[in-house]
Amino acid sequence: MKLEKRDYDAIIVGSGPNGLAAAILMQQQGLSVLLLEGKNEIGGGLRSAELTLPGYLHDICSAIHPLAAASPFFETLPLAQHGLQYLYPQIAAAHPFDDGSAAILTQSIEKTARQFGVDEQAYLKLIKPVVKNWPLIATDALGPLSFPKHPLAMAQFGLKALTSASFLQKRFKDKTAKGLFAGMAAHGIQPLTNIATSAIALVLTAQGHLKGWPVPRGGSKQIAAALASYFISIGGKIETDFYVESLSQLPSTHAVLFDITPKQLLKIAGHKFSSLYKWQLERYRYGMGVFKIDWALDAPIPFKNESVKQAGTVHIGNTFEEIATGEQQIWEGKHPDKPFVLLAQQSQIDPSRAPAGKHTAWAYCHVPNGSEKDMTAVIEQQVGRFAPGFRDTILAKHTFNTAQLEEHNPNYIGGDINGGVIDIGQLFTRPVLRLSPYKTSAKGLYICSSSTPPGGGVHGMCGYHAAKKALSGIFNIQVKPL
Ligand SMILES: Cc1cc2nc3c(=O)[nH]c(=O)nc-3n(C[C@H](O)[C@H](O)[C@H](O)COP(=O)(O)OP(=O)(O)OC[C@H]3O[C@@H](n4cnc5c(N)ncnc54)[C@H](O)[C@@H]3O)c2cc1C
Repeated sequence: MKLEKRDYDAIIVGSGPNGLAAAILMQQQGLSVLLLEGKNEIGGGLRSAELTLPGYLHDICSAIHPLAAASPFFETLPLAQHGLQYLYPQIAAAHPFDDGSAAILTQSIEKTARQFGVDEQAYLKLIKPVVKNWPLIATDALGPLSFPKHPLAMAQFGLKALTSASFLQKRFKDKTAKGLFAGMAAHGIQPLTNIATSAIALVLTAQGHLKGWPVPRGGSKQIAAALASYFISIGGKIETDFYVESLSQLPSTHAVLFDITPKQLLKIAGHKFSSLYKWQLERYRYGMGVFKIDWALDAPIPFKNESVKQAGTVHIGNTFEEIATGEQQIWEGKHPDKPFVLLAQQSQIDPSRAPAGKHTAWAYCHVPNGSEKDMTAVIEQQVGRFAPGFRDTILAKHTFNTAQLEEHNPNYIGGDINGGVIDIGQLFTRPVLRLSPYKTSAKGLYICSSSTPPGGGVHGMCGYHAAKKALSGIFNIQVKPL
C-alpha cells in the first residue's frame, strides 16, 4: 500500500541516545526523518559542559560508556569517521575497602579472578560463560521479551541474571568479590534483594572483560555529536529549541516516536490513547533519584590505593552489606549517612577534560525520588574516607539535586535517570504489558526512550527496537536483524 505524502515520513521527539538511534535507523531506510529536541542542544543524557571553571569539561549526565561501546546498533555505525574516539582506562573499575585494599576490574578475566583468592574459581564460573556467550545473546538481552536466537545461551544467562544480587553474592566467600559484585549491581538503582539485580551486575562486569569501560575523548557529548553528524550525513534533519507540548505542533507525518517517559507522553498524547493503555501508563513506576556532583580539582584524587587512582570508575561503598543497606534505606525514603557513591575520573583517561596537571571528577549517590536534600558533604565524606585529603584538592564544584536534574532533562522524573524503575515488574514490560512495548494504543505513535526495554543506559537499543517496530508496522519495511 502506498502511503500518502506527508511533510516527513517520521518525526522523533527527543534527541537522547535512543531518539538519535531511532532517527538513524529510519533515515537509513530512505525515509525522511525530522528529529526534534526541546533544549537548545541535542544529546539528552549525552551532554558535557564547563560547569565549574573555564577549561574544565564535565559530563552533565552519563560519563562512562561500556554500554555505548558494546551497543549492537552503534557498532554498525561509522561513528569513528564522525569524530568519536573511545579512550579505555587500564582499570575499568575499582572498589576500595576501608582496610586500604581494593577490588579491580580489568580486561583480563584471569587477572581479575586471581585477586579474589578463595573466590577465584567461583568468579570464573559465574562470569566466564556470560563473557563467552555475550556475542550470541547481546541483541536479545538488550531488547524486548522474545524467543531468543540462541535459547541455550540465553537460558544459561537468564538463570543467573534473574536472581537478586543478594542471592548471587552467596557464591563468594570473601569481601573482595562480594564488594565488587555489589558495586556493579548498585548501578540498577534499587535494593539488591530485588529479583534481576544480578542482570545489570553480570552485564557490566562482562563488558569490562569484553571491551572495557571507556570515556569518549572530549566528553560524552561527542557520542551525541557523532550520531547527529552521521544522521545529517545521510539526509536527516534536526531542530533544537522545539519543545513538544501537543501533537498539534508537529508537521504532518506517518509516525511519531517519543524519546520521553510515560508521564510526559500522557500529557502530549493521552487523549489519543485507549482507556486501558492510559490506565496502564498512569501506573508506570519511577525509581530512586540521584544527587550529582562535579568537581574541578587541583590534583588527582589522592586515593590510598594506587590501583584506584588509575581506574576510570570508582565504586565507593565498602562492603556488600554496607551498599545493600544503603540502597534499601533510600528505597524506603531515607538518606543514608554512607550511601553508595559512583565516581568517575575522566581526566585521568582524557587529558582534554582539564588544564594541564589539573583534573575533573564526577560522582553521584542515589536518593529518594524527588529528594532535594543537598548530599555534597555526605558524598565528599565518602570519597575522603578512601582518599584522605580529597577536600584539599577541590578548586570548584557544581551540584544537581533531583529537581535540577529534571529541569535539565524532563525525562529524569524526580531524578530517576533510568526512565522508570527497572525491577522485575518493569524489566520486560516497560512501559506497559503489550505485545510490543514500543507501540502505543494510537496508530502511528511509538515510545522509544529508556522507559522501554532494555531500559536505562547509553546504548540506543530502545530507539533501535522502537524504530524497527514502526518501520514494519507503518512502512512495511523489515530491517535485517543485527
Ligand atoms: C547523572 C547521570 C549519570 C548517568 N551515567 C551514565 C553512565 O555513566 N553511563 C550510561 O550508559 N548511562 C548513564 N546515565 C543514563 C543515561 O544518560 C540515560 O539512560 C540515557 O541518556 C537515556 O537515553 P534516552 O534517549 O532514553 O533519553 P534522554 O537521554 O533522557 O533524552 C531525552 C531527550 O528528550 C528531550 N525531550 C524531553 N521531552 C521533550 C519534549 N516534550 N519535546 C522535545 N524534546 C524533549 C530531552 O531534552 C532529552 O534531550 C546517566 C544519567 C544521569 C542523569
